[in-house]
Amino acid sequence: MDFVYTPEQEAFRQEVRRWLEANLTPDLCVDDAMDERVAGDRETFERRVVWQKKLNAAGWVGLSWPQPYGGRGATLMEQIIFNEEYGRARAPVLPGYMGVSLAGPTIMQWGTEAQKQRFLPRILNADDIWCQGYSEPGAGSDLAGLQTRAVDLGDSFVVNGQKVWTSGAQFAQWMVLLARTDPDAPKHQGISYFLLDMKTPGITVRPLVLMNGHRHFNEVFFEEVRVPRENLLGPKNEGWKVAITTLMFERSFAGGGSHSAQVRRLAALAKQVMIEGRPAWEQSWVRQKLAQFTIEGEALKYTAQRNLTRQLKGQPPGPEGSMLKLCGSELGVRIALFATEMLGNYALLDQGTEVVPDASRWLNRALSARQYTIAGGTSEIQHNIIGERVLGLPKG
Ligand SMILES: Cc1cc2nc3c(=O)[nH]c(=O)nc-3n(C[C@H](O)[C@H](O)[C@H](O)COP(=O)(O)OP(=O)(O)OC[C@H]3O[C@@H](n4cnc5c(N)ncnc54)[C@H](O)[C@@H]3O)c2cc1C
Repeated sequence: MDFVYTPEQEAFRQEVRRWLEANLTPDLCVDDAMDERVAGDRETFERRVVWQKKLNAAGWVGLSWPQPYGGRGATLMEQIIFNEEYGRARAPVLPGYMGVSLAGPTIMQWGTEAQKQRFLPRILNADDIWCQGYSEPGAGSDLAGLQTRAVDLGDSFVVNGQKVWTSGAQFAQWMVLLARTDPDAPKHQGISYFLLDMKTPGITVRPLVLMNGHRHFNEVFFEEVRVPRENLLGPKNEGWKVAITTLMFERSFAGGGSHSAQVRRLAALAKQVMIEGRPAWEQSWVRQKLAQFTIEGEALKYTAQRNLTRQLKGQPPGPEGSMLKLCGSELGVRIALFATEMLGNYALLDQGTEVVPDASRWLNRALSARQYTIAGGTSEIQHNIIGERVLGLPKG
């Protein structure tokens, strides 16, 4: 990979930076955007919907979507530069991120022309917010074991069952839903993929509160829910292939965000708190840990760039995706736990103090970091993938 940006790419960066400086207001900014990717309340959600519409009007949403579908057809490098500037400005994750990153690209690949026309423009403009109805109480890592049933009545399907951990379902107007349409077929072959209107009678959304207090995800129950046949995406009983398309897009943004920014904040904290009468920064064990985290963060950065190089050369995805997901999410947990070691009793405070003004932010990090080792495929599953597919070890 060439580490030097071209003049055109630098100009593009300046254009993004200037636009964000002129348009992003402080009330929208967040400290840890991924942790707060689902708005905590409806007011914040609505504010972010207005923000997405503004971005869309300026052509910044769905940057890498093809132009015929309302995108800019931007290059991968432009998308990455945009993401860097967007993160640097502390802008919030778009309320419609599931639609823009998962549902939309899947509809582009598998949808009929009518489905594309109907759904894609509304996704970009945050007119429709989407959620992902995959996991069930008995089907997470073993997703193909899902039990939600959809019975074919000809012009429609009738859905009964339950989903769980459905992020953002409390705000969503639409769901990408996996349901079993042939209970007698081998488990991967009897699943279909539906586009479900969340206003349909028979759907109950029950919020689940995370241990950090965030209202992030939900249980969703289906009782005799009618889905018109036109909302089947891809062929009946071949929904597993469609589901994999969505998962491929999901992997590309799993892992929990930038580690160098986290390590920088950790170093600032070490200068701020005292351990045994001296700033933590002066303790050799603290400095060694900070150095170790920096090394691991840099290693991940270069692994991500190796991944990017593959994509720029049009090569198929390599082992880097699983490695980044596994090592990135685990490093995030270790950084957050080390902060609690330095903070001692302050780690339990949900409000700032004179000594640690951002104590509540660290408490939130300590409680939030572990979610990335579960969402989008657990660390154990990533170990299995690396062991079996990359190292060629026998199945466990
Ligand atoms: C923050 C967050 C947001 C999420 N959002 C969504 C969403 O929007 N939509 C959605 O559908 N789902 C969502 N999920 C669910 C997520 O995809 C699942 O939690 C994940 O796939 C794990 O499934 P599970 O929770 O059923 O755990 P299980 O699969 O029951 O696993 C339990 C434990 O067993 C281990 N294990 C399981 N199988 C193996 C194996 N073969 N080898 C070794 N160990 C194994 C796992 O690693 C784990 O430690 C979200 C999860 C989180 C944490």
